[in-house]
Amino acid sequence: MSPEEILREIAAEVSVCTKCDLCKGRTKAVPGEGPPNARILFIGEGPGYHEDKQGRPFVGPAGQFLDELLQSINLKRSDVFITNVVKCRPPNNRDPLPEEISACNDYLDRQIAAIKPLLIVTLGRYSMAKFFGSAKISAIHGKAQKKDGYICMAMYHPAAGLHQASLKETIRQDFKKIPVVLAEAERLAAEGKLGSASSPAANPPEEPPQQLSLF
Ligand code: URA
Ligand code: SF4
Repeated sequence: MSPEEILREIAAEVSVCTKCDLCKGRTKAVPGEGPPNARILFIGEGPGYHEDKQGRPFVGPAGQFLDELLQSINLKRSDVFITNVVKCRPPNNRDPLPEEISACNDYLDRQIAAIKPLLIVTLGRYSMAKFFGSAKISAIHGKAQKKDGYICMAMYHPAAGLHQASLKETIRQDFKKIPVVLAEAERLAAEGKLGSASSPAANPPEEPPQQLSLF
């Protein structure tokens, strides 16, 4: 199957998924969207009110800020793939529970394997935890690292920036690093040093976390 077909199949499964209790309160599941060959994958937390209504990721106020951030580095939403760690809205936007995240994780893993992005940007602490364990966002935000065969960069959640002006500026500055990191990722991929270059990252070789030479 082509990446496009795989992503379509995942979206179809997600739309009728009952693997966790979040299915009970959803209006629409939000599988995520973007080009199957996107170079950048953004992973947020979970759908909110607007996303649940529309079935699309980041379409509320946090999404408007994300659009602005993308624009600041000359990217459009249609250039990137955007998804979340849980695909159905938690009631009253509460934090997703560990069992909900793990129930939904297989969809995310399959999306990553299909897209094979050059850069994964985590938005907020739940997607950060998938790649960076218990690291502190205040310590690692905006720093690219090689994880699971992918270049990953943790960022504060755009919604956090809407509530706190100083964080908003931090997120803006972190976003400005994306083009440079992407260029570095492209170089590594060309040298066959990324899991995303040729082989799928489903079973990446064990290697210690590596700080990019750039940073
Ligand atoms: N916040 C998220 O984490 N994801 C969305 O899709 C929207 C808001
Ligand atoms: Fe299924 Fe994920 Fe929705 Fe839970 S959050 S019902 S695992 S799609």
